[in-house]
Amino acid sequence: MLAPVYSPCGLSVERAEGMRLYTDRGMFLDGYAGIGVLPLGHSHPDVVRAIAEKASRFTHLSNYFLDPDAVEMADTLVSKTGRPGEVYFSNSGAEANEAALKAVRKHRKGVVVSFEGNFHGRTMGALSITWGPSMRKPFEPLVPGCVFLPLNGSMLLDFAEAYDVAAVFLECIQGNSGVIPIPEELAEAAKTLQREKGVLVVADEIQAGLGRTGKFFCFEHHGLEPDIVTMGKGIGGGLPLGAAVFSGWSPFGAGDHGSTFAPNPVSLAAGNAVLSHLTPEFIEDVDRKGIFFREKLAALPWAKEVRGRGLMIGVSTEDAAGVKEKAFDRGVLLNAAGGGIRFLPSLAATEAELEEMAERLDF
Ligand SMILES: *Cc1c(COP(=O)(O)O)cnc(C)c1O
Repeated sequence: MLAPVYSPCGLSVERAEGMRLYTDRGMFLDGYAGIGVLPLGHSHPDVVRAIAEKASRFTHLSNYFLDPDAVEMADTLVSKTGRPGEVYFSNSGAEANEAALKAVRKHRKGVVVSFEGNFHGRTMGALSITWGPSMRKPFEPLVPGCVFLPLNGSMLLDFAEAYDVAAVFLECIQGNSGVIPIPEELAEAAKTLQREKGVLVVADEIQAGLGRTGKFFCFEHHGLEPDIVTMGKGIGGGLPLGAAVFSGWSPFGAGDHGSTFAPNPVSLAAGNAVLSHLTPEFIEDVDRKGIFFREKLAALPWAKEVRGRGLMIGVSTEDAAGVKEKAFDRGVLLNAAGGGIRFLPSLAATEAELEEMAERLDF
């Protein structure tokens, strides 16, 4: 009786803690943390406490009430961008990108540029800038005025000579395409268009943000100053939440956009508990653990190329489905993306836990 859009792995989970899932088939190490949704791993005590505390007071009030947790989180997210700004909260990543698209459309006429390999979500607007003809084709016509360019800076500059570009959507490390970092010259081209033509730069940090790549935001690796930053996945500490940060401008007025549920008070409390852990020291540690883990992964017999930064890691291999299956038999949950294996483990994983996972994957 369920729409067959997913392929569940068949495990029945009793409880989950950190990197470990306790199931009807024994303990599994989790290589993807709820698809990048749990920066501190499963059931982190501070997150569980924040959820219980908030839910015991109220679970939903509506946007007729201002939640102090919303103010606190907005303050944190804006300060992390390093520029003045404001936050629109949503319930998911795709909805954060919908908000970004609406903000772009309201303020700048012109083409919205996305890139081959980008993933921005599956709602009609987000899907219009999501690469993958097979994903889009059955649902056309989508939102008009969106194009895809190769990950190439000079092609972007040439395109912007020929057409008016309103915005450029960047996924600085393409997660769903297999952890593909964008070339530096593409980031430079986006900066040039932003500076010289006022083109809006949107950074989708839904997967790569929140310390995952060894910086709070992945765009920091390129010195970008995006006009819009979108977030989702880990921002709600495992509960549904998304956010769009508008830096240096204020695209929406009263009634321009909204959602019945967003932002959910319990999600905000859980997310603030996560954010309080993401100190510069914690994030430096993610970088260090990432180097350690990537070295271990590169030594595995089935690993070809190892890509990524921090604990966002893609490993190409000849037979991703086979590797996933063998890993499952050895008690490791892996996720295949872009024809390889994508690792998005808990950022709180210890070196010992990462090593234990790598040892189990030595086949
Ligand atoms: C997961 C993801 C999205 C979509 O988020 P949802 O919460 O599934 O709507 C968008 N962009 C990127 C980069 C993602 O990884």
